[in-house]
Amino acid sequence: MKIGKAVIFSAPSGSGKSTIVKRLLTKRRDLEFSISATTRAPRPDEVVGQDYYFLTKKDFLDKVNNGSFLEYEEVYPGVYYGTLQSELDRIWKAGNHVIFDLDVKGGIKLNEILKIRALAIYIKVKNLSTLKNRLITRGTENQDQITTRLAKASEEVAFESKFDASITNHNLDEALQSAEEMINQFLKEVR
Ligand code: ADP
Ligand code: 5GP
Repeated sequence: MKIGKAVIFSAPSGSGKSTIVKRLLTKRRDLEFSISATTRAPRPDEVVGQDYYFLTKKDFLDKVNNGSFLEYEEVYPGVYYGTLQSELDRIWKAGNHVIFDLDVKGGIKLNEILKIRALAIYIKVKNLSTLKNRLITRGTENQDQITTRLAKASEEVAFESKFDASITNHNLDEALQSAEEMINQFLKEVR
């Protein structure tokens, strides 16, 4: 039987990890996205149950209490995100490898839980002003939320060394190519 593996992408918000993850999913049919649960509101282009499971805070905290999460974080004050054990079970059972898009703390935590079955990749940008510009261009957060995300980013950069590998997302095609090579190599290895 094929052993399911996990690829974890983490980065400060705005670095481009969702963009990279979405593109990678079109490249390998045996990779499947772990749909996280969150208490934040859906963005206009997001599909419920495809990008996230959008939950009320009460439903999220009920799931915390009944042990449904493999990991969860209060990523921003009052805003929760978490990985459901049922997602990992579903994807591995289907014979696929799972791909995660997590904040930096969650990525480190999950990498420790999944050990050699996981590859944790940190996505970075050249500097904070690039991050700021990308968040402004994306246009999905208001000014206050962007400030919160940038403040968190300044703390997150210190954790790059905790990851198995890192990729600078300056040129998107090059970043994608590096990610694809790393993943192909990791999925080939017998662990
Ligand atoms: P994250 O998931 O890390 O928060 P996104 O994937 O949403 O980040 O990317 C943030 C914004 O930056 C999006 O508008 C995206 O289109 C853009 N972006 C991603 N990669 C690049 C890149 N290499 N160069 C310029 N813009 C990029
Ligand atoms: P966004 O609101 O931009 O979709 O995500 C905000 C942050 O939460 C991103 O860094 C994203 O990777 C992270 N995130 C998404 N899902 C999870 C999750 O299940 N667990 C954790 N710890 N972080 C998550």
